[in-house]
Amino acid sequence: MTATIELPTCADCHRVHWPAMTHCPHCLGGDVRIEPHSATGTVLATTELHHTLDAAFRGRLPWAVALVRLDSGVSVLVDKVGPAHARESRIDVQGVDHRPGRSAAATDR
Ligand SMILES: [Zn+2]
Repeated sequence: MTATIELPTCADCHRVHWPAMTHCPHCLGGDVRIEPHSATGTVLATTELHHTLDAAFRGRLPWAVALVRLDSGVSVLVDKVGPAHARESRIDVQGVDHRPGRSAAATDR
């Protein structure tokens, strides 16, 4: 079975968007629902953070993160990435945090 992830989906135009918004950024429809989509995507870029101005993230340093384009078309910031998550590699994202400014968690495919 293919892994899935829950993402905001417009009931009017059926397009997915991220981050979560109360209205669809494509058609401005107000009927946005959280629906399952493929959790698989492609790593677009990776980096390792060594400094932060936010005390909440200091415990994570150095913090490896990646920008991943999910097969549904949206891009998410993913943490818990390792050396296997090179650019262009395929990855399964485990979940997203729908709170503003939060990211997703990932694992090897
Ligand atoms: Zn829409």
